[in-house]
Formats: sequence, C-alpha cells, structure tokens
Amino acid sequence: MAIISSNVGDNDFSLRKKELRLVDSKIILEEKINNNLNSARPVTLKEFIGQEQLKTSLRIAIDASIYRKEPLEHTLLYGQPGLGKTTLAFLIAHEMNTKCRIATAPSIERPRDIVGLLLGLKEGEVLFIDEIHRLNRLTEELLYSAMEDFRLDLTMGANRGARCRTINLPRFTLIGATTKLASISAPLRDRFGISQKIEFYKYDELKKIIVNFSRLIKLNLDDEASYHLAKISRGTPRVALRLLRRVRDYAQVVKKTNFISKYLVKEALDSHQIDEKGLDSLDRQYLSFLNQNSNIPTGLDSLAAGLGDESSMLEFVVEPYLMQIGFLLRTPRGRLLTALGKKYIDSKNDNF
Ligand code: ADP
Repeated sequence: MAIISSNVGDNDFSLRKKELRLVDSKIILEEKINNNLNSARPVTLKEFIGQEQLKTSLRIAIDASIYRKEPLEHTLLYGQPGLGKTTLAFLIAHEMNTKCRIATAPSIERPRDIVGLLLGLKEGEVLFIDEIHRLNRLTEELLYSAMEDFRLDLTMGANRGARCRTINLPRFTLIGATTKLASISAPLRDRFGISQKIEFYKYDELKKIIVNFSRLIKLNLDDEASYHLAKISRGTPRVALRLLRRVRDYAQVVKKTNFISKYLVKEALDSHQIDEKGLDSLDRQYLSFLNQNSNIPTGLDSLAAGLGDESSMLEFVVEPYLMQIGFLLRTPRGRLLTALGKKYIDSKNDNF
C-alpha cells in the first residue's frame, strides 16, 4: 500500500500514478510532483490561483476550525484530474498547521490497510484519500464510524467466537478527492461536512500559473506566449505546466534559447501534434470517429473499441474538454458531434 506523508511545507514526495496523457495520446506515468514542480505547488490559500468561491468557503471553514481548536470538517473535493485537488489537500494541512498523509483508494485493499492508516494518525492530522470513489465496501464501512465519531468498530475472529472491539481515534480530517462524484455512495458522501467542486480555470488564471512557473524554471516567456499556452491548456493547470515543460525542452534543445515567443510555442507544440485549440491526435481521432456517424449517437464502448483506448480515458480526459469547448454533446443515447465540432474536424481532415 502506498502511503506518503508530508510535513508542513514539505512537498517532497513522489506519488506515481497513471496519469493524463501527455496530450499526444500516450498514457504516461508521471510523477505527481517532480523536482521542478515541487516548488510550483502553492502552499497557502493566498498563493493558490483561481477557484475564488472555493477559496472563500475554505478560508472561513479553516479559520472557524482554528478558532474553535478543532480539526477541519471532513472535506470532499471533486473535479477533473489536474485541477488541484491534491494541492489543496496539502495546502489545507499547511493552513491548519498540521501534517497531511496521503493514500490512493485502490492501494487500500484490505480492512487492515485503512485501520493501519487511521491508527497512524495524530490529533488534528489530515488524511487525504485520492480517487475515493474506488474504495471497497468493507473499507468504506470502517470509515463511517471513524469519520462520524472518531472511533473504529472492529470485529475480531469469526462465527461464534467473533468479538467486537472499539478503538478510539484521534480527531482528524479526511479529505477525499474524486473525479466521479456520482460513484460515491450516499452514506459516505453525507459524512463529508464540506463538499467542493473544482472548476476548469479561466485563461487569465492559467496564464498566472504559467508565468509563476516559468519564473521558477528561469524561462523568459513573453506575454503573447504565456497567453497562447494558457488558451491551449484545456482549463487545467497540470496540462499548462506539462506543455510549458515541453516548450522548454524544445527551446533549449532545438532553438538553444530561454526566450519564448508565441511562435516558438506554436512550433514546439506542433512537434507534439497539439494544435491551436490545444487538441491532440487522440482528440482529433475521437472527433473523426464521431464524424463518420454524424447525427447518430455513438456509445462510449463503441468509441473506445473503435479507437483502441480505455473508455474511462475517453470519458474523463478526452470528453470533458471537448464538451467544454462546445464540440461534443453527451446524450442518454450516446455521444454526438456538434455543428462546431463538425466544422473543426472537417477543416482538419481537409489538411490531413
Ligand atoms: P489533482 O490532484 O486534481 O489531479 P494536482 O493538485 O496534482 O491535481 O495539481 C496538478 C498540478 O497543477 C500541480 O503541479 C499543481 O502544483 C498545479 N496546480 C493545480 N492547481 C493550481 C493552482 N490553482 N495554482 C497553481 N498551481 C496549481
């Protein structure tokens, strides 16, 4: 079971997980935070860019907890990958002046895994569980009393020899992160006092994130370059930072420069087949596939089979952005290309 703990302000951990594609349609393993990104991760709420409503609510909840000398209420963060859920968990722990321990739900396989995690917590600490919708039923049930009464109800032994044992836990905050809110059972969802959606970011917010990160890695981006990058980052900070790293590679290796113009950004991303809308070859294959059946709704499974990709990849990585930019409709009968999406993919096919 992978459990990583972090001290206040110590972002030096390296959780590896199956991640978003690089945006050139490969699924890659990316260190959630690599050396360069460590210092890019905002540490305080003030440094966290965007998500104004969420920050205001969290600020009040955190200050109220500090005032009452209580842990923050259990918090559920939901939204697409790369929008900052893990960052917020660390940041909340920092603001609460405590430690954050993190684990991913699929790594908590047996009841003893969650028991070990909970028993390892100290008063006031934060336990962050990523992909919390993937917890198994037994683990989830153990969490109910832990969350509600800071108590573990364990059954030891089997059949007639079975005994119940109750263990008191320190008061802690559970932060759950999910991309699939609807897959969380109602009893678990109801035990979170705070539930916050993380939205896609606006261009100017992404631009700020890009500018901050480029300063950190000593890259000189002009205004147009950072705005262009922001526009093609799919509303997602992780994508923005990843594209920026690709642009840096190209600039340093091919152009031997640290000065980045909009034209250099375009050239660099061209080499990764990422176009002016931030769409890559998988997005275009997806749209082309739908275009062949235009006006007929296509099921997700047919799309996945046709494209040879996992349906969850299409559902959570490819489709949200295509819907956001008005290229795709999800209907109960299947996926449909919009007129805008058709116009775009027809123009691309003309150029193939
Ligand atoms: P998630 O857990 O939702 O998949 P992360 O918290 O791992 O996303 O964030 C992905 C990357 O984007 C991290 O490198 C993080 O530093 C950066 N990031 C996310 N949100 C912000 C933000 N609001 N401001 C600055 N950087 C951010």
